[in-house]
Amino acid sequence: MLSELVDAGLPHAGTADDALFDDNDLGNMSLYLGLKSSRRMAMLCWIRALRRIRQGGARYTVSLRVSCTYPGHVGLCVYQVHPAFGGIRTATGTRADTTVAELTTPDLPCPVDLPRQVVQIANRFSDVSFHLLPRPLKDDLSLLHREKIGECSMTAKALISVLLEAGFPARLAFGLILATPFSSTHTWAEIQVDDQWLPVDPLLPRALQSWGIVRPADWPVTMSPRGLFYRLTGEQTDFARHAGYACRQSLPTTVAGA
Ligand SMILES: [Zn+2]
Repeated sequence: MLSELVDAGLPHAGTADDALFDDNDLGNMSLYLGLKSSRRMAMLCWIRALRRIRQGGARYTVSLRVSCTYPGHVGLCVYQVHPAFGGIRTATGTRADTTVAELTTPDLPCPVDLPRQVVQIANRFSDVSFHLLPRPLKDDLSLLHREKIGECSMTAKALISVLLEAGFPARLAFGLILATPFSSTHTWAEIQVDDQWLPVDPLLPRALQSWGIVRPADWPVTMSPRGLFYRLTGEQTDFARHAGYACRQSLPTTVAGA
């Protein structure tokens, strides 16, 4: 399949026999062509987690597992852990996978219907398709408005500005999509209704529907995925850094008390 895609113009480096491809291109292709990938497998787990939270009362324990960015360096690995993730500031570990922090959520609330006016505003983004983007393009709003292409953080920021204009208290949320066996990081918009902050995300359920991962009835765009989305901070951040630099991380997750 890759050789067909190269013939069709897929950007690559090197020769056809040992070609290198862009990670975002491979991720987008796996989603839009319905190929097996770790990303797609994680998304299938979100649907099971959504069913669990809709039944009510779930709690999760999420570990922050990291690995060394520069294997072979002198001395111990030193990781700085974000205060939002359990409050441990510094941890040391071996170079293989190391768990540096752990958090347990409170009892999570069930998803809830969004106010009709908020759904109408969110529907203005119904023609945006989700694409994984390289870092320099992640906040390029012209891409969203001109090409109707967006990633989670870009779309959330655009949605927040429309919500604020319409008079809704709105904020950015960065945190977890809670699921077993692994949670994922995500960015979304939230609105305040009756002293509660509700996640609003028109992009993700539509993308999951277009990729054949979820049926509209399982995750309607009129629903706030409260309890599935768990806010930790107000901006995209690394939960752990290795000697000041981003490091590979995973988020093993279990149902608390199970
Ligand atoms: Zn290290």
